[in-house]
Amino acid sequence: MNVAPSPLDPDWLDQIRPTMRGVATSGILEVFNYGRGRQGLIPLWVGEGDLPTPPFICEAAKASLDRGETFYTYQRGVPELRAAIAAYMTRVYGAAPGGGAFSPENFFVTIGGMHAIEIATRLIVGPGDEALIPSPAWPNFVGALEISGARAVPVRLDRTGRWSLDPDKLASAVTPATRLIFFNTPANPTGFVATREEIAATLAIARRHGLWIIADEIYGRLTYDGARAPSFHDVMAPDDKILFVQTLSKNWAMTGFRVGWLEAPPALGEVIENLIQFTTSGVPVFTQRAATAALDQGEEFLAWQIDRCRRSRDILCEGLKATGRVRFSEPEAAFYLFCSVDGFADSRALALSLIDEAGVGAAPGGAFGPGGESHLRLCFARDPDQIADATRRMANWLNR
Ligand code: PMP
Repeated sequence: MNVAPSPLDPDWLDQIRPTMRGVATSGILEVFNYGRGRQGLIPLWVGEGDLPTPPFICEAAKASLDRGETFYTYQRGVPELRAAIAAYMTRVYGAAPGGGAFSPENFFVTIGGMHAIEIATRLIVGPGDEALIPSPAWPNFVGALEISGARAVPVRLDRTGRWSLDPDKLASAVTPATRLIFFNTPANPTGFVATREEIAATLAIARRHGLWIIADEIYGRLTYDGARAPSFHDVMAPDDKILFVQTLSKNWAMTGFRVGWLEAPPALGEVIENLIQFTTSGVPVFTQRAATAALDQGEEFLAWQIDRCRRSRDILCEGLKATGRVRFSEPEAAFYLFCSVDGFADSRALALSLIDEAGVGAAPGGAFGPGGESHLRLCFARDPDQIADATRRMANWLNR
């Protein structure tokens, strides 16, 4: 039951800090709320797949609860998980910056990748500071910056054959207020995969201007061409100012577990521990046990998931290309197709029409900032048969 506001009620929004009031709402949410619960709708709007977490991961969580691991724990994460992260990183990235194996001291377990973003952002920027973000970009980067009182400065990616970054554009966006480059590769929503050269050029700009980099490489393993995407780990020195964001969410179908990590210089350990203590006070132990199982035993599931996503990507890309009206560069990584549709400039209106008339939920490109308008983001991490159905629905709708 809605209760009408009384004239004696304060204007609650006037009672809080203007910074918080001013944080922009995600444009994905608006469309999601509009279409939520529609019968038969195929949801391609959010950044997660349809697979439940694999049983071997859930079993590890259950066993932890059965052992009674229901207490507060280490702020930095349980030692076994931090060791598993270090071993995983050494396996996937070869060696730590400067050589040798990665050390557990570099890793801080967080409530998903989002909490790692939040901590990293708070460490670096505050009111009056600026952060460069290759754009279109996931709106939560901008949200995290705005909550810190900082300003996001979008730097447009180019779409030629592939999405690409012009380092000159990045360099010319630097001002005396710039503190940070927020760099997401492979990227949500575009599927942009920075080449080693683009990464090295970005690092060179950061070094020249004394900037930090927050490297969100959460989709680094979800590539359709090779075992992993190029990484800042491939070009950095141990003294480069880079914070890495990672998560278990996507690789192992664990979005609901909320486990990720921040990789940072060990010298920041106490400060990060404080930030964890004073925000979440740590990550539940049973989800950390699940994460440990995923990292130690999860390669087979990951490979299977990538293969499934590849099939779904190919079905979606071929079907939409055949309409002759949908433009995109084929995603080389992550699980999003970011496309424009001839004749539709307003992505919000297009997304709403697709819900009402085609029974497909898409995220409006305008939600991803400059360069995103007139696009749609379609998440294809779903059963290939369902993706085929969604593709047919959209193609029929376009050809009506
Ligand atoms: N970074 C990127 C680029 C993402 O797309 C997401 C999830 N959509 C995250 C970070 C955060 O993931 P989570 O908080 O679920 O671990």
